[in-house]
Amino acid sequence: MSDSKTILVVDDEEPIRDSCKQVLSKAGYDCHTATDGIEGLHIAHQIEPHLVLLDLMMPGIDGLEVLTQIRKTHPQTVCIVITGYATIESAVDAMKHGAFDFLPKPFTPEELRLKVVRGLEQHRLLAETVSLREEKERMQQYFITIVAHELRSPLLLVKQYLDLIVGGKMGKVDETASEMLEGAHSTLTGLLQLIADWLKLARINAGDIAGGMVDADARPILEKATGDLTSYAESKDVRLILACPSEPCPLCAHAESLEVVLKNIMSNAIKYNRKGGTVTVRGEVADGRLQIDIIDTGMGIPEHEIPFIFEDFFRVKNSKMASIPGTGLGLSIVKKILEGHHGTVEVESKVDEGTKFSVFLPLVCELHTGEEEN
Ligand code: ADP
Repeated sequence: MSDSKTILVVDDEEPIRDSCKQVLSKAGYDCHTATDGIEGLHIAHQIEPHLVLLDLMMPGIDGLEVLTQIRKTHPQTVCIVITGYATIESAVDAMKHGAFDFLPKPFTPEELRLKVVRGLEQHRLLAETVSLREEKERMQQYFITIVAHELRSPLLLVKQYLDLIVGGKMGKVDETASEMLEGAHSTLTGLLQLIADWLKLARINAGDIAGGMVDADARPILEKATGDLTSYAESKDVRLILACPSEPCPLCAHAESLEVVLKNIMSNAIKYNRKGGTVTVRGEVADGRLQIDIIDTGMGIPEHEIPFIFEDFFRVKNSKMASIPGTGLGLSIVKKILEGHHGTVEVESKVDEGTKFSVFLPLVCELHTGEEEN
């Protein structure tokens, strides 16, 4: 029943150590003992016990310090503190430091067994949670690989063939076939955009951003995003204007992802604009943060829809929107990337007048101050 579960008893009182060892060994546990905190930490390091029974009041380093160190080095080990009746407050304190339960002295063999059974059940649940999380991450990674290689690559190849035919590079195609091929081409383009957006989202969820945060100036990122979208704006007859801040804007950022944020909002501002309209991108430093406004003169968003636009796959449903391609994932990506940058986004909009997205990002000094306070 209790086969190979390992328990460590750390207590400076010999009678307690001996009686715990006797009761627990009899119940079939592999029980070890230590006479003080230093020895306890040493043995815990060697045997990685499932459960530690820990006296709080010991000479030398006290139980709370031992508890803190075990929680740090062996987070899956469950700790139960042994306390004198009068030290119930320190037991509560120990629980705040990560102890699972406490056992007041004096205790009977039955009370000891009960606490240990509950503690080991907690250990089993913790181990199960960790292995399920690892399994989920493995599956997610596997799915990303499958979508990226097995689905996206062959579709890209088909699109390249269609690019040639629809672009007239393969000679004349009869009118009906040409219409069908154009339909197939535009459906495939939408599908590939959906896959690209989904992959971005999956990679962000898999923690891709956190690994690549570096000190960066926001201005070249703003300039690049605007430059890359200039020809798209021209093709839609929309004027794209950038007003960059004159002073440096030092950020702790994943530059590539931040560019995605700006491009997603800017391309929407172009896509949902009117012919002859404008998109103004304006950066400003104030109160230790960078504010980037992206203001368009487009169709606007109905007020009651604004709370939903950052949700996965959400698109405003109306007759104008139906003909505009999109995946409903662009703003969801924006929100997740900004969360990874301690940033926020706000939206103001008026139907048929336009929309203003304001992105707020903490400047480097602010970011560091915040971390130190935590
Ligand atoms: P999509 O791929 O559909 O553009 P997004 O997640 O980028 O998806 O945006 C979600 C929805 O928010 C869009 O479908 C659109 O209805 C609305 N939206 C976003 N930006 C604007 C904008 N600048 N003007 C009007 N509507 C917008």
